[in-house]
Amino acid sequence: MRLGIDIGGTKIEAATLGADGAIRLRRRVPTPAGDYAGIIATVTVLVTGIEAELGPAESIGIGIPGMLSPATGLVKNANSTCLIGRPFDRDLAAALGRPVRLGNDANCFALSEAVDGAAQGARVVFGVILGTGVGGGVVVNGKVLTGPNAIAGEWGHSPLPWPRDDERPGAPCYCGKHGCTETFLNGAGLSRAYEALSGRPEEASTIAVRAESGEAAARGALDRYVDRLARALATVINLLDPEIIVLGGGLGQIAALYREVPARWGDYVFSDSVVTKLVPPRWGDSSGVRGAAWLWLEPSPK
Ligand SMILES: [Zn+2]
Repeated sequence: MRLGIDIGGTKIEAATLGADGAIRLRRRVPTPAGDYAGIIATVTVLVTGIEAELGPAESIGIGIPGMLSPATGLVKNANSTCLIGRPFDRDLAAALGRPVRLGNDANCFALSEAVDGAAQGARVVFGVILGTGVGGGVVVNGKVLTGPNAIAGEWGHSPLPWPRDDERPGAPCYCGKHGCTETFLNGAGLSRAYEALSGRPEEASTIAVRAESGEAAARGALDRYVDRLARALATVINLLDPEIIVLGGGLGQIAALYREVPARWGDYVFSDSVVTKLVPPRWGDSSGVRGAAWLWLEPSPK
């Protein structure tokens, strides 16, 4: 069995995959926020517990909201900022007594959906995480595209395209800039759009439910969100021209996005027609752990 672990901003999830790709066991615990040593300890306890039940894992792959810098070997670009600047793969390997492979969480998600998920058979796939952070991963012919800077697909920290006057300069981002796409399209971004219309903040999932039931402020906030996502994905389509885009993360569960965003992105894509499909993930929020488990099926990055 292969063990995959997905480290998110709010939860750490572990799953074991059999040779047939079926999940045998899945476990989820809260992420010790801002606590690097706590994250290492939590992963170690998860792995030890699972192996006590199922026996030793063949391999351990870990998806993180960031990536290892090819220049320094340390984590960069993580919105769980306590990981930044840390040799997370080496610290985990020391704690677990064996090598681990680290991958970007959006890359893991895209890989899982491209291999045997909603984008199976597509040559170019863009996988998106819309959650606490906003990430992206590119899979071409079944392989993750990484690149020399290890940032392929990272669209969340480019500015929101075609900004309106009231979208400039935009909210500050942890990366040090203002108006990043992530600040508009993560959960906090939808919440802020709702607060601007209703005067009070609300959870992203609640806003989606209220929009479906016709509440004006929720509908208005979701409408702005749809337009922003359509703009952001239009630049991805212009650059990559993927056959399929898969939306993961908590906000990827908003069903209206799959109807409304493709109805809108034609206004922005530089083409007379757009046949790109926008689909929900087959594996839901298990895709992160599935892709992490499969990191060992990819050629070694070193
Ligand atoms: Zn940013």
